[in-house]
Amino acid sequence: MENTEKRITVIVPCFNEQEVLPLFLEKTTAILSGIGKPYEYLFVDDGSTDGTLSYLQKVAEKDGHVKYLSFSRNFGKEAAMYAGLSEAHGDYVAVMDADLQDPPELLAEMVRILDEGTYDCVAAYRSDRKGEPALRSWFARIFYQIMNRISDADIKDGARDFRMMKRNMVDAIVRMTEYNRFSKGIFGWVGFNTCWLPYENVERAAGKSKWSFWKLFRYALEGIINFSHAPLSLASWFGFLMTGLAFVMLIFIVVRKLLFGDPVAGWASTICVIIFIGGIQLFCTGVMGQYIAKIYSETKNRPIYIVKETNLKKEDNR
Ligand code: UDP
Ligand code: MG
Repeated sequence: MENTEKRITVIVPCFNEQEVLPLFLEKTTAILSGIGKPYEYLFVDDGSTDGTLSYLQKVAEKDGHVKYLSFSRNFGKEAAMYAGLSEAHGDYVAVMDADLQDPPELLAEMVRILDEGTYDCVAAYRSDRKGEPALRSWFARIFYQIMNRISDADIKDGARDFRMMKRNMVDAIVRMTEYNRFSKGIFGWVGFNTCWLPYENVERAAGKSKWSFWKLFRYALEGIINFSHAPLSLASWFGFLMTGLAFVMLIFIVVRKLLFGDPVAGWASTICVIIFIGGIQLFCTGVMGQYIAKIYSETKNRPIYIVKETNLKKEDNR
């Protein structure tokens, strides 16, 4: 059968995951070897400061399925995923976290669905947010609602980065070389047929999450700025509205003066209005500044990641 020849690459971004990697490898290998297709891991060590790299070097010597890339410093999960996708040469490419929050059992199901041929991608999403602080869940829900309304990147609530894609979709993503990466948006933006697999939220097997609430909040804002121009139009609409309002007020004051000859009064309210308008102006300049900062970082054209060490050979590359 032609399908058994399909090669699977599993990309695993790792940042200080020494504690959980042995368990991850044990569980995932059990699943992958049961699928019956050739497979390999591509661990991307994102500048870990613990023993992650030395552990990877050690297992790679024993296990030919283990490939790794190690960054010169911490570039972030987005960069790690991009590096993995650029270097992976499987026909089916999966991205999953090292902490076993992405259940490896789903890999078998993903392969089965891709083999059927209707879909180009199978992505997992959490059907619940058990074990997460209520405030965080609330913000997340609002974020997805806003994001889907104002951008053309179609993002599913609860979607994680855990997914398996066919080669054509991977190539499309690799062609998106932007420096400011927001993968949840990129996955949606490239299109292709995606099958959504629900699963129950799982707690981290070991180690700590690298995300604080503020980091997540900033990540959400990044997502909006990277995939939507709505905040910019919002700024112009604000300006337009304020001008209209000022004009109405002007007419009101002139008419009142003509009819009642009202003397000038209301110093306090004048100051309030001035401060209010000043605030809005600063806010809009700030919004514009965010976009300019993005343009600046894109035009510098810096590499998305820098590899310090790898066991991928040149001929391994496509
Ligand atoms: N990760 C990474 N670079 C970073 C932060 C995280 O490669 O700067 C990896 C991390 O090792 C893990 C995955 O991204 O495999 C998800 O991280 P984490 O579990 O902290 O995020 P959460 O599951 O809480 O969203
Ligand atoms: Mg996690």
